[in-house]
Amino acid sequence: MPKKKHLHIDTRLAQGGHYVDKASGAIVPPIHTSTTYARDESYELQGNYIYARYQNPTFDQVEALMAELEGGAASRLFSSGMSGITSIFETVKSGRHVVAPTVMYHGAQDWLRHIAASRDIGLSLFDATDPDALAKAVVPGKTDIVWIETPVNPTWDVIDIAAAAEIAHAAGAILAVDATVAPPVTTRAIDFGADLVFHSATKYLNGHSDVLAGLVTTRKEDERWEQIGYARKQLGSVSGPFEAWLLLRGMRTLALRFERISENAMAIARHFAGHSQVDQVLYPGLPSHPGHEIASRQMYNGFGGMMSLLIKGDAARAQKIAARVKVFTPATSLGGVESLIEHRASVEGPHSKVPKNLLRLSVGIEKAEDLIGDLEEALDG
Ligand SMILES: *Cc1c(COP(=O)(O)O)cnc(C)c1O
Repeated sequence: MPKKKHLHIDTRLAQGGHYVDKASGAIVPPIHTSTTYARDESYELQGNYIYARYQNPTFDQVEALMAELEGGAASRLFSSGMSGITSIFETVKSGRHVVAPTVMYHGAQDWLRHIAASRDIGLSLFDATDPDALAKAVVPGKTDIVWIETPVNPTWDVIDIAAAAEIAHAAGAILAVDATVAPPVTTRAIDFGADLVFHSATKYLNGHSDVLAGLVTTRKEDERWEQIGYARKQLGSVSGPFEAWLLLRGMRTLALRFERISENAMAIARHFAGHSQVDQVLYPGLPSHPGHEIASRQMYNGFGGMMSLLIKGDAARAQKIAARVKVFTPATSLGGVESLIEHRASVEGPHSKVPKNLLRLSVGIEKAEDLIGDLEEALDG
């Protein structure tokens, strides 16, 4: 189907991957399960495909849609968010240096510590709440990747993407953004100067808590992009075709889901700000949040569904509240249609810097009053 560049992103999403199959008239794409592709009588490949670990027609559809949404040159689909992250960091050569926030997705930071310790790669962690910390952390000529995550889990501090891009580029590094919590319906990190954008597609992009996947998008198809593709191929970090197909189906409702989720989250944040049982609501959509001004600039279509409540009381009380909910489900992960609640400190373990009274919410698409009522009852007990 020819590209329709003038169409709104919501329309592109709704029709993502839709086409009319010439043979059957089907408007839903087939799932290509073949692991290998035949050659013709002159021993030429008949399409762009050789073998399923290299590329698959169902991946192509997801990747084309994502590249378009992000305004990037190309996207690649991975078997999980983490395999996208490890493939990005496979491109860092020994002797180089990486910068990342102190508070970030713990699995990714664990990996950075691991490669720093085992591959002679320097690692500097910076405090994302200090506006001068990133500039001090980069080493001009040595830093290869500046990695940021925004908003940052689970405090939802906001990092200024444009400012980070300027610092990274001045040091000769690239900027890679983990925008899992801010999908491209609200943030297009490449527009703010990012070179790579990463999403755990397991979260908002798929949106139904039933697919594990990652997507990496590049500003330009350069040598590093080739290396990321090489890493995916050789490490075998590829999705199954059914997962790719499910992800494409999930993405068609992203705009609608994200709109409702952002409305619900804002209603919950407003309701519990100043509540007698709550010390603080951490949500970038609230004007009282320290990152609100930057968030308003770079999350131009809703602040999403991730927030944390610092409740009055200790860890035991926070756990009790999380266990008492009836509409929310106490579980990890985020970005699905169903609302989840989690006591982060117990999940992250004894070394966690997360406040013991913090409850993380991933707000879903249910009716806001039911979610508010559920939390009220849990807090009341
Ligand atoms: C979940 C998540 C990841 C890792 O993705 P997986 O799909 O679980 O491998 C990375 N970053 C953030 C912000 C996440 O929420």
